[in-house]
Amino acid sequence: MSVLEVRDLQVSVKLPEGQLKPILSGVNLTVRSGETHAIMGPNGSGKSTLAYSIAGHPKYQITAGTVTLDGADVLAMTVDERARAGLFLAMQYPVEVPGVSVANFLRTAKTAIDGEAPKLRTWGGELKGAMEKMGMDPAFAQRNVNEGFSGGEKKRHEIVQLELLQPKIAILDETDSGLDVDALRVVSEGVNRVHANSDIGVLLITHYTRILRYIKPDFVHVFVGGRIVEEGGPELADKLEAEGYERYGALR
Ligand code: ADP
Ligand code: MG
Ligand code: MG
Repeated sequence: MSVLEVRDLQVSVKLPEGQLKPILSGVNLTVRSGETHAIMGPNGSGKSTLAYSIAGHPKYQITAGTVTLDGADVLAMTVDERARAGLFLAMQYPVEVPGVSVANFLRTAKTAIDGEAPKLRTWGGELKGAMEKMGMDPAFAQRNVNEGFSGGEKKRHEIVQLELLQPKIAILDETDSGLDVDALRVVSEGVNRVHANSDIGVLLITHYTRILRYIKPDFVHVFVGGRIVEEGGPELADKLEAEGYERYGALR
């Protein structure tokens, strides 16, 4: 049983000229093992900033608040320590890593997370199985990470990582954006499979309600203007579907 706790989190982005631009203005959120939380909000509301702040992106400066995982101070950890502690981020825009093959990348990540290299005897099959389940041709293992991948292939690869690394808490940042219906279904089934096979807690960040037809959230948080403005159960997503974010407009 794990718990990610975000308390009064305030975050600014560091601009190239060195100034700080405030983005998050006091976020409170608790994600426990086995729970699925949807964060829904308009573009530019700060959803990715929240994801990156929890993961430890250096561009974001925490100006107040705390983030803990099972009581441990996440903000005091380096990015790799956060990953080893059990945090996982599927990025909205997965980055290309020229010169590093998918096979090498995943094996290196698995080794770093587990503290020991996966058994050679079983690893090949595990990797192939995870890729096949996500509808990725195992030939992708020899390609460079995300290089020349379509939007859908990048997102499938994010879920392959999720499946192999078995984190405690996974943050999925707009994993649904840019996916056609088939890819959306495969990606959603992948998340649901991981959820069914482990006690993972999921923080699903999305702009659209359509992914919530496949992944059922236990809690929905409406995110506008750098903070959570409304919270509820799955029925809140239906309300957003019908009414949009317009009625929160004054808060922007
Ligand atoms: P969302 O993911 O909800 O679309 P983001 O967290 O990406 O929102 O962005 C929130 C706000 O922060 C936006 O207004 C965006 O322009 C701003 N922002 C994010 N990163 C930077 C940056 N590096 N420089 C300037 N502004 C940024
Ligand atoms: Mg659940
Ligand atoms: Mg975003």
